[in-house]
Amino acid sequence: MARAFIGFGGNIGDTRQLITDAIVCLAQRCELQILTKSCFYQSAPFEASGSDYINSVIEIETTLTPYGLLHVCQAVEQEFGRERPYTNAPRTLDLDILSFEGVSQDDSDLTLPHPRIIERSFVLLPLLEIAPHFFLPQLGELKAYLPQVADQRIEKLSCRNCHCGEKAVYSPTTH
Ligand code: ADP
Ligand code: MG
Repeated sequence: MARAFIGFGGNIGDTRQLITDAIVCLAQRCELQILTKSCFYQSAPFEASGSDYINSVIEIETTLTPYGLLHVCQAVEQEFGRERPYTNAPRTLDLDILSFEGVSQDDSDLTLPHPRIIERSFVLLPLLEIAPHFFLPQLGELKAYLPQVADQRIEKLSCRNCHCGEKAVYSPTTH
């Protein structure tokens, strides 16, 4: 079993609902288990135009390989109507693998850890919410990078029955 973190983002449609539904889709796969889910965050588009984004991060445990997990993520993106008309286009749903236990690789199809993990508040904040001491050998503790993204507009959204930071088997009714 490997631990991995997946980041979600979207800015077309009811993104909170889409992310919630996508997590249910992932949870139905026997090759992975959802361990933790962050709250939702609303962030300004990064190097893009369009509506604000909604973001969230989950921690999973999986028997999949890194590429196996990428294919699952891309299948979920397709299922939820992801289109790629141009770089950084608005999207219904984007799933990025932020890290996959112990794996460091530079393939353009799958770079791990995700190359922009420390550059974006919409990744760092939800990730550090569920893993406050997240550490990468190449980068050290990720919380050290928070000051560098402090100028990026982001807001943590309130949620019903919030169990932020609790380690628990995912329940679709939590958020
Ligand atoms: P972005 O997420 O950068 O806005 P896309 O979702 O269209 O753009 O992804 C572009 C490509 O990035 C995909 O074809 C995918 O193979 C590749 N990629 C490289 N590393 C990763 C990663 N860690 N997680 C998800 N996709 C990745
Ligand atoms: Mg992506």
